[in-house]
Amino acid sequence: MEVKSNCPKCSGQMEQGFVIDNGYRVPIVSEWTAGAGPPQWSFWTGKIKSVTRQITTYRCTKCGFLESYAG
Ligand SMILES: [Zn+2]
Repeated sequence: MEVKSNCPKCSGQMEQGFVIDNGYRVPIVSEWTAGAGPPQWSFWTGKIKSVTRQITTYRCTKCGFLESYAG
C-alpha cells in the first residue's frame, strides 16, 4: 500500500518508512495486532493468535511528525 500525503501539521513532505523493534537480535518491523489486552500466544505454534498487520509509518521530513498505516 502506498500513501502519498502531506503532513497534517505543517504540510511538509511525508516519506515512507517502518518502525523497527530492536528488542531482538534481528531488527523486526513492528506489527499492529487485533484485540484488546496482552497478546494471546498459541501454545502449539508459538505464534500470536490474533490478526497482525505490518505497520507502514510515514515521517514528515520537515517537522518529524509520524503517521502510521496498518495495511
Ligand atoms: Zn510536518
